[in-house]
Amino acid sequence: MRERLVKAVALLTSTAAIAAASGLVPLPAPHPPPDRWWKGNLHTHSLWSDGRAFPETVVSWYKRHGYHFLALSDHNVLQEGERWVTVPSDGWQQWALTVYRDEFGPEWVETRRKNGRLQVRLKTLAELRTRFEEPDRFLLIAGEEITDRCGGRPVHLNATNLKDLVLPQGGQTVAEAIRNNVRAVRHQARLLRRPILVHLNHPNYGWAVRTEDLIEVTEERFFEVFNGHPGVHNEGDEQHISTEQMWDEALIGRLLEDPQAVLYGLATDDAHWYQNADRQRPIPGRGWIMVRAAYLTPWAIVRAIKTGDFYASTGVTLARVDHSDEAIVVEVQPEANARYVIEFIGAVKPTDSTQRPQAEVLKRVAGVKATYRFRGNELYVRARITSNQPPDYPIHPHDREKAWVQPVVPAR
Ligand SMILES: [Zn+2]
Ligand SMILES: [Zn+2]
Repeated sequence: MRERLVKAVALLTSTAAIAAASGLVPLPAPHPPPDRWWKGNLHTHSLWSDGRAFPETVVSWYKRHGYHFLALSDHNVLQEGERWVTVPSDGWQQWALTVYRDEFGPEWVETRRKNGRLQVRLKTLAELRTRFEEPDRFLLIAGEEITDRCGGRPVHLNATNLKDLVLPQGGQTVAEAIRNNVRAVRHQARLLRRPILVHLNHPNYGWAVRTEDLIEVTEERFFEVFNGHPGVHNEGDEQHISTEQMWDEALIGRLLEDPQAVLYGLATDDAHWYQNADRQRPIPGRGWIMVRAAYLTPWAIVRAIKTGDFYASTGVTLARVDHSDEAIVVEVQPEANARYVIEFIGAVKPTDSTQRPQAEVLKRVAGVKATYRFRGNELYVRARITSNQPPDYPIHPHDREKAWVQPVVPAR
């Protein structure tokens, strides 16, 4: 009897209790809550790397603005261990310290003098969690921007819900560097048996990533179709296609070979700047994802993203996104005075193998609700919703609020 009891206690300790204590997996509920939409951003910087604010200032901004989850994704570093930053008597760090002290008070802010210079200790992710997390309201997920280079070109990937730092893996080509970093993240996920998301950042930054790279590295299933940093060329230029065009080209190139090799699109902020809402700066609030899940936990959120159950947004909120073998249904949650266009974009399978499919608008509806019925010959179909209203923090004066629904490969 005693032995059985000991065993039972040991089992409890090893599974449910640890899971509950770590906050990583939900405890089994008799009636699981229904799925709902959670708003979050997976790409943000703080003073742990080159972000110009203390992490609390960053996290507080997102929580106050109604986000449910956030990953601080500093360059090649996790927010752990003892770390002090020097605050010079002139410069932007003074602003950062002033707003930090004003919001969090002298009891929370830790300072010291070293060699006559003022230093402030950066709080760790664990400390930030105790301060900000609330069940069903706000969640922090561990993040890192794996910041690699290849032939002088930036190759950046974000890992979300990782435990251990992933060092940049390098490679002979950009495609190889992407693949090596994706594999390093996957290795950790397998080893630790936890879902970790790895997504490719801002392909047009430094014109580093070409469409061919996106086609080739099918191990990577996520990329930023929108990144809020003004320096990353989401829209391309005279010589380069936009990230959205890259998405279609990559989908066609991949899906012709393998119908499983879908590429999903995220919108993120890549915020570095929190001082004022200057259009030229990488400020927060420009791009996010809406994830459908029952629970607000790292596991539930990352798993839902990995199955493609999310959409990307720069301002448009959707009341409904559903797809079946027959159709995709999209319904907008309209804002006052806004008008919307819903476009279903996809490519039709070629009738003979010499033809290369082209992405096109397969259906276009002006309004807040639209259904696309599969004809059976599509390689994939995705939806883009465009408002006639500018976003809260536009990069360009012509920007309009958008949402991107993930591509669906119809069952054949
Ligand atoms: Zn980057
Ligand atoms: Zn970044």
